Amino acid sequence: MLKSIDADVIVVGLGAMGSQALWRLAKRGIRVIGVEQFAVGHARGASHGESRIIRTAYAEGAAYVPLLLESWRLWAELERVTGERLLDRTGGLMLGPPSSPAITGPIASAEQHGLKYELLTADELRKLYPQHAVTDDIAGFYEYDAGVVYPEAAVQAAVRAAQVRGARVLRAEVSQVDATGVVLTDGTVLRARHVIVAGGGWLPKLLPGLAARLEVVRRVVGWFPAPAGFGPGQFPIFIRMGDEAGERNWYGFPAIGGAVKIGLHVWPGIDEPVDPAAGVRPADARDAQMLSAVVAGTLPGLAPEPSRLLTCMYSLTPDRHFLVGPHEGMTVLGGFSGHGFKLAPVIGEIAAALAADGHSDFALDLFAPGRFTTLPLRPRRSDELGR
Ligand SMILES: Cc1cc2nc3c(=O)[nH]c(=O)nc-3n(C[C@H](O)[C@H](O)[C@H](O)COP(=O)(O)OP(=O)(O)OC[C@H]3O[C@@H](n4cnc5c(N)ncnc54)[C@H](O)[C@@H]3O)c2cc1C
Repeated sequence: MLKSIDADVIVVGLGAMGSQALWRLAKRGIRVIGVEQFAVGHARGASHGESRIIRTAYAEGAAYVPLLLESWRLWAELERVTGERLLDRTGGLMLGPPSSPAITGPIASAEQHGLKYELLTADELRKLYPQHAVTDDIAGFYEYDAGVVYPEAAVQAAVRAAQVRGARVLRAEVSQVDATGVVLTDGTVLRARHVIVAGGGWLPKLLPGLAARLEVVRRVVGWFPAPAGFGPGQFPIFIRMGDEAGERNWYGFPAIGGAVKIGLHVWPGIDEPVDPAAGVRPADARDAQMLSAVVAGTLPGLAPEPSRLLTCMYSLTPDRHFLVGPHEGMTVLGGFSGHGFKLAPVIGEIAAALAADGHSDFALDLFAPGRFTTLPLRPRRSDELGR
């Protein structure tokens, strides 16, 4: 018997990725329903906290650069169609030992794609960016095409842009997904020709077949009151590696509202597992101490105590590349491993192409959800930069 179809495509989860997929599908004129369990732009997943780094020369792999260039273009399009300011170009500074991936990674990526950059010695760093305390064994990689994306505004803008194009949005929890549609917790069944699952930290519950490939862990960021000299014009976004292996890797933003936001991306002992149903354990004094120690040692001009702390979830894959592609007849968007936000628009466009045409013009092998059968499960840390 034929079942009625409620939409061409259903998108489960309207965080960074689902909101963009919704917009790109609606823009194509496709009948799409987005289902989100919380208010759009909420602070319980991975897409909140006022700021996200966007950059172009990518240590995680030169293969990301075409995606990044398209993402910049799509961010500008979303700003244009919504009239909202969603990002600011502040420039970006990568700091670390010259042989660390913080420096070698973006150089390789910039060289391969002809991107403009500047290499800075420790002396030049002290002169140009005196906010950072650097020893002689630290180098800098500067690029102009980097900055801050505003995550809550971006998610809300994408959903609004989708609604203007006819997308429907349901606030409901999905209890089951398969290639034919979804079941909501109240028993409602929605059917579609294609389902996109963009569940963030909830993905292992929605798609248990992927659970072994995803580690959902806690992260904490802190805001440190800043004097003059740390604003967007003077203090670019930065990522810093404290060692050649990248075992200590942190990042920060120019002062917005008087405080610089700092987060640890890779650090011994911080990968605390999270059960999204229970929520992330609130930030505590130990989190404050860890962040304060980094700030006191490397950004001595900032107040050493955070004025505010916030928690968030990372969904880590074993190789820290994303899961984007087909899975059990659906399209999965997940495992963004702490560096996906900047790419959300192009991921949304890829998802729309996969749902509508069955293929995308972007090379997606790096992100194939099935790729882990031949890879070790143990995380590799040394070649990742983060965010
Ligand atoms: C502290 C922190 C700092 C970061 N910094 C950067 C950075 O500087 N630059 C960068 O590029 N990236 C960064 N990232 C990574 C980036 O923010 C994430 O990769 C991205 O936000 C992930 O988006 P998502 O859509 O996969 O997940 P989410 O935004 O969590 O969205 C998933 C959505 O699915 C919904 N959902 C789940 N299950 C259900 C269900 N059953 N029914 C209905 N709805 C459901 C959830 O409610 C949620 O809204 C950072 C992440 C964190 C946590």
